[in-house]
Amino acid sequence: MGIPVQRKPRYVVPASAAHGTKVVALTLDDGPDPAYTPEVLKILRKHDVTATFFVIGRSAAAHPDVIRSIVADGHAVGTHTWSHANLRRLPAGKVRTEVGRAVEAVAATTGRTPDLFRAPYGNWSRTVFEECAAMGQTSIAWDVDPRDWDNPGSAHISSEVLDQVGNRSIVLAHDGGGDRSQTVRALRHFVPVLIDSGYRFVGV
Ligand SMILES: [Zn+2]
Repeated sequence: MGIPVQRKPRYVVPASAAHGTKVVALTLDDGPDPAYTPEVLKILRKHDVTATFFVIGRSAAAHPDVIRSIVADGHAVGTHTWSHANLRRLPAGKVRTEVGRAVEAVAATTGRTPDLFRAPYGNWSRTVFEECAAMGQTSIAWDVDPRDWDNPGSAHISSEVLDQVGNRSIVLAHDGGGDRSQTVRALRHFVPVLIDSGYRFVGV
């Protein structure tokens, strides 16, 4: 079950996954949300692309139908702690509980044990890497952050993604944690632009 301890999270898609083509990984944090996640899924379905959802454990437990629809559409599911905790200063036992409860909640809902993890606020620590490794969880960060959680406007979110993106980028966006209607509007714009620019959507 254990894996080697990471010294830093993964920031870009591994070269081995690119196969010499232009790839991008879209990731969505802080869901599942009964209002916004279905909107995001509709956009991804329309354009026939997949994403990775880093879900909050207690939200996954509260909205099992939403998380099952994510899986049914062929997307990957990782976890983002049970309660969106800032793990940086937490002792090992608390980290284990926050990560482990989320992993168990997703496994119970989907029948598959997730193995991808993203720390809230991007706050990893050596303890977090050690506990994640013991639980078989690979830590995934990002290299493109349009700061959509701050609601800067959908046009701004979209242009930030398109300005920052490059081959093997991991794009951070959010389908929960507040009013995500700007993110939904931005996705409607930038997803087809990325496709037209030659990007193939892959996992992290
Ligand atoms: Zn988050």
